[in-house]
Amino acid sequence: MTNSPRKIAIYGKGGIGKSTISSNLSAALSYMNYNPAQVGCDPKADSVNTLVGGNFIPTISENIQKYGLSENTIINSAYRGFNNVIAIESGGPPPGQGCAGRGVLVALEYIEKYHLFEIFNVDFVIFDVLGDIVCGGFAQPIRHGFANEIYIVTSAEYMALYAANNIAQSIRLFASQGIGAKAAGLIHNKRNIESEDIIIKSFSDLLDIPIVGDIPRSHIVQQSELQGKTVIEAFDKTDQAECYFQLAYNIINNKYRVIPKTVERDKIINLLNKYNHSLIS
Ligand code: ADP
Ligand code: MG
Repeated sequence: MTNSPRKIAIYGKGGIGKSTISSNLSAALSYMNYNPAQVGCDPKADSVNTLVGGNFIPTISENIQKYGLSENTIINSAYRGFNNVIAIESGGPPPGQGCAGRGVLVALEYIEKYHLFEIFNVDFVIFDVLGDIVCGGFAQPIRHGFANEIYIVTSAEYMALYAANNIAQSIRLFASQGIGAKAAGLIHNKRNIESEDIIIKSFSDLLDIPIVGDIPRSHIVQQSELQGKTVIEAFDKTDQAECYFQLAYNIINNKYRVIPKTVERDKIINLLNKYNHSLIS
């Protein structure tokens, strides 16, 4: 393969739904003429779980510790999951070597050095990155140019919006340092909060980042998770699966790249006060 793969990063507050969205996106892309890879960049190493039958695959860090660093070790850290999606977990740092973000970066460097994506003919890479970007370590995938197209997962909850705003701030900071990563979209992972659509639309306008996906909250997500599967694998004919397919389609066709705006914390609070009347008792 001559072209380098498209590389996107999924950011957002911890627990907001990044890994669920990443895995369903990977699974959807695998049905849409792509050979995707998903790279979990979280020492918890639970990103690709539902792509590999509910298993926890050994991480790059673990494999290096166990077998030593070699091309084979790195190649053997890539697993074929559902519909041949390539599943990789960076894992944490070697014991005693501190910063988890640094551990993630080391793993990503080996993926590049040993041409993992070329070897497996990958044309679309999803980096699923721990937490929000405020911890400098987890900015590594974009700071070092591994991914230059950033999607932010958020709900209409204060802390999720606060984290999303911080991520936008980091993208601005990187831009001022000459790093080419840009915001490409917001993904709304719904929580059935009052007025959530209008809150996210207003937030999207304020930050100048378009909404590329609306994912309903659904028990189907938990059901498929318990089976160790994505929604795409377990319940492919449902409306929920359709939403992930639509997200994949929107991302494939999305040309929007922006250095986003940011808002003051008060503006987020005002936005929630304005629309979410259940907050005001
Ligand atoms: P993150 O990777 O951002 O930490 P996860 O993807 O692990 O978050 O999601 C946290 C939990 O939220 C998961 O256990 C998952 O079942 C649940 N979840 C995510 N998205 C949805 C949704 N759309 N509907 C219902 N539950 C969801
Ligand atoms: Mg996760």
